[in-house]
Amino acid sequence: METENEISNQSFSKMINIILFGAPGSGKGTQSSLIEQKYNFHHISTGELLREEIAKDSEVGKFAHGFISKGKLVPDDLIIQLLAKKFDELNVVHSNGIILDGFPRTVGQAEALEVLFEERGTHTDLLLDLRVDEEELINRLLLRGQTSGRNDDNMDIIHKRISIYNNQTRPVVDFYEKLGRHVEIDGIGSVEEIFEKISNAIDGVK
Ligand code: AMP
Repeated sequence: METENEISNQSFSKMINIILFGAPGSGKGTQSSLIEQKYNFHHISTGELLREEIAKDSEVGKFAHGFISKGKLVPDDLIIQLLAKKFDELNVVHSNGIILDGFPRTVGQAEALEVLFEERGTHTDLLLDLRVDEEELINRLLLRGQTSGRNDDNMDIIHKRISIYNNQTRPVVDFYEKLGRHVEIDGIGSVEEIFEKISNAIDGVK
């Protein structure tokens, strides 16, 4: 008979964990939802987690709001704790996998993520790097700002967020490239075309 441990280990080996990486406006949210539906992964957006905390008017939400409204990153410790809590709430070790949207955004977060995964007997399989040029990003975010209700989708803050992406977030790609787990995806084209490229990359891991 299988022990409980053996059963858990079987679940670990089946998990596929994907980081959907890209600048603000690169289509991470849209594509993550499609991946979630097709592969039955948990979609975790750290931006959404923070917006939920703000909506609840929690202490975390009040603290995070000051950073988000200025287009700055919230401190690593806070976001890592929030993510660890979510992993436990969702009991992720017994799932098909995770699609991370908006995390990691610093090399420190990437290192912490791999520790969180290691503690759960798993790791990041793939970082999908959605590439979209800056002009297109700005156009998309300004368009989204007309309906998103997000006060960080305005011209000043968009520029700030893109510059933080270039300086603080982009080095995360090198981290996963060194591990041989980085795949670049052209993020220009129809949602369906891009999703097909993403699906092919995920199917390559399976
Ligand atoms: P997003 O919805 O991913 O565009 O995130 C919106 C905002 O939430 C960002 O501009 C940051 O202020 C904050 N945020 C989301 N995820 C992270 C993260 N991994 N690290 C730091 N700040 C984050």
